[in-house]
Amino acid sequence: MSSTKDAMNKWFGNFPSKRFADDTCYLIGAFANVSVIKTDEGLVVFDLSNRIIHQKIFNKIRKFSDKQIKYIIYSHGHFDHCFGYASIVKEIEKKGWEMPQIIAHENILDRFEKYRELDRYHHWINSQQFSSIGNIPKDGVSAHDTINPTILIHGNDEYEFKLGNYSFELYHDKGETDDSLWMFFPEKKVLFAGDLMVSSYPNVGNPYKVQRYPKDWAIAMERMLEKNAEYLLPGHGRLIEGKDKVKEVLSITAEAMHFVHDEVVKRMNEGKWFEQIYHEMLDIFPEKFNHWILQPIYGCYRFAIHAVYRLYHGWYNTGNPTDLFPAKSDEIAKEFLKIASETDYINHAKKLFEEGKLQLALHILDVLINGIDSNKKELLLNTYNLKYKILKQKAKDETSFIASNIINNGALQIKDKIRNLKKSLKNNI
Ligand SMILES: [Zn+2]
Repeated sequence: MSSTKDAMNKWFGNFPSKRFADDTCYLIGAFANVSVIKTDEGLVVFDLSNRIIHQKIFNKIRKFSDKQIKYIIYSHGHFDHCFGYASIVKEIEKKGWEMPQIIAHENILDRFEKYRELDRYHHWINSQQFSSIGNIPKDGVSAHDTINPTILIHGNDEYEFKLGNYSFELYHDKGETDDSLWMFFPEKKVLFAGDLMVSSYPNVGNPYKVQRYPKDWAIAMERMLEKNAEYLLPGHGRLIEGKDKVKEVLSITAEAMHFVHDEVVKRMNEGKWFEQIYHEMLDIFPEKFNHWILQPIYGCYRFAIHAVYRLYHGWYNTGNPTDLFPAKSDEIAKEFLKIASETDYINHAKKLFEEGKLQLALHILDVLINGIDSNKKELLLNTYNLKYKILKQKAKDETSFIASNIINNGALQIKDKIRNLKKSLKNNI
């Protein structure tokens, strides 16, 4: 577990900033990475990280160079990549400089608009997804205030610009988002990947977020491979250096994306439903994907299976008409409790727990939680206590940051219920 925590720490930029490629480039680890490229005529900045740490990012940029920023590139429109601009703008106003050109894919505008429309909802889901790193201020993730691009890349257009002696190539591929841009700096053979490379199994199939694109992700990796780069800047995590290493991480990520996509599609074509596909996919997970670049510390293979299925399928995913218009879970649970006693259920859940069948024990406990008469406080308390214990155990064993946060959030809610129940038992309410 501690190694997963260490990995997550680094994932969120907790590593020293680094100069590389003959001191032309600078990587700033800052929740999401910020990269700076120095030319004779000014700076190019690839991503800005988030609003909360704008001052820190600015200070680090200025530690590297005091030249004027001429271009800013948004790798995609997530809050951790394009909202950290406040100190940069302040400096521009103070010095009377011109605003830099800001380059992004055209789809970013719809994304910002969507975030504004769903402002409270996004804050709510991000608070859950990132809960283990503390409270995220609403202002930190909101798109209420953005600096919009001045140069838009349309569709699959490629875009090249020059600054000083250097040239910069921009490409669009879908992957974590539909507005991704990645950049190649040919003179020094540096790839700037944004979140198409995140030092974890790709974040495809995030349980909270909209659809992502595994097949396109593989294609993006293959297009990056053609550049034969020396350096690869991930959106999160440390710099990847050396032609062979860059080639290795791009190739294995492409292979992993092709694999999960093609194997799920194959099973859909065989007329299988999600549950069967999911468990078969777990059974055939190839050993070679236990690669360090694919460690499941943020995204994970289990989520990716969902992603592929959802890409092509509607919400009716069991093939069982019972699930088409289901009754309420508490009504179903109450019926189950008429068949066997509540004591039978809790005893059975305990037995499953002792046998290490934690997931099955949770399903049984949920019958009690949903169906029990709320006056039976002692029994409810025992039920919550066991569920809390199981969730904490599962969270401890979980490698994915997102999955462990989901499980821990559930445990916290139950802890609240336990506290309230104990209070009301003590006061004999
Ligand atoms: Zn990111």
